[in-house]
Amino acid sequence: MEELTSPEEMVAWASDHRQQGHRIGFVPTMGFLHRGHVSLMELLRPQCDVLVVSIYVNPLQFGPGEDLERYPRDEGGDLAKCAAAGVDAVFLPSELYPAGFGTRVEVSGLTQGLCGGSRPGHFSGVTTVVARLFGLTRCDLAAFGEKDFQQLAVIRRMTEDLALAVQIVPGPIVRDHDGLALSSRNVNLSDEQRARALSLHQSLFTLAETARRGDSVAELLGRARMSIRADRVDYLELVDASSLQPLAELDRPARALVAASYGGTRLIDNVDVGTQWT
Ligand code: AMP
Repeated sequence: MEELTSPEEMVAWASDHRQQGHRIGFVPTMGFLHRGHVSLMELLRPQCDVLVVSIYVNPLQFGPGEDLERYPRDEGGDLAKCAAAGVDAVFLPSELYPAGFGTRVEVSGLTQGLCGGSRPGHFSGVTTVVARLFGLTRCDLAAFGEKDFQQLAVIRRMTEDLALAVQIVPGPIVRDHDGLALSSRNVNLSDEQRARALSLHQSLFTLAETARRGDSVAELLGRARMSIRADRVDYLELVDASSLQPLAELDRPARALVAASYGGTRLIDNVDVGTQWT
C-alpha cells in the first residue's frame, strides 16, 4: 500500500493509473477509521481496479468553536485498517490547499436546512474539499455513507451540476452492537453520554415503525422529540428523501434525521421512513 503525502504525489499516482486504463475508486475520510469507513472501502473494492482512501481533517468544514482541535486521530491504526481492506494507496496530506487557493464550491438549496442551518458554511467546506479531492485523485467512482445523508445529497448535486465524471456510490449506515451509528466522534462521549445517545437511533427507529400506523407527522415528531435524551437537539425533521424539504404528510419516500449534542460532541443519525418497514 502506497502512502502519498502531497497533492503532487497524489496526482502523479492517479495519472499513472489512468494512463494504464485503471478504474480508480475513492473513499474520502477524516480518519480515526471505523467499520463504517471500512464498509465503504469494501463496497468499492470489487468495482474498481485501484482504490485510494484520503485521510484529511478539513479545516474548511469546521465552524468557529467546533471540534476541529479535538477531532480524534490515529494514523497508525488507520493505515493498518486500510491495508487490511485491500486499499492500494492512502492519501494523507499535511496540507491540501496550496498558497493562493481561492475557490469555494457552494451548492444552494439542499444545504439550507438541517446541518446547513446549524453549521453555517459547513457544506461549502465539504463541497470545496471533495471537488479538490476528486481533481487530485482523478477518481471514476467515490463512496459516501448514508450516515451523512444530507452530505450525500449535496455531493450528488454538485457532481451532477458540475458534470464531474465521478459515479457516486452510497453506503448504508453501519451501527455499533447497541445500534449507535458509528462515528469517529463517539470516542469523545463519556459512558453516561453514550448511554443517552442510544436514544437517537431508538427514537428514529420507533418513528419509522409507528409511521406505518398512519400517525400524523406532528405526532411522530412530537413523540420522537420527547424520547431523545440529549443536552441539545439541533434538529429533528421528517423530510422528502430527495429534496430534503420538510414534509407535512407522509405521502412519499421520506427520511427522518436528527442532530444532537452531548457536551461538546455533536452526533447525527437518520433513518429511512416508509419503505424499509412495509
Ligand atoms: P468522516 O470521516 O466522518 O468524514 O466520514 C467519511 C465517510 O464515511 C463519509 O462518507 C461518511 O458518511 C462515512 N461514514 C461515517 N460513518 C459511517 C457509518 N457509521 N456508516 C457508514 N458510513 C459512514
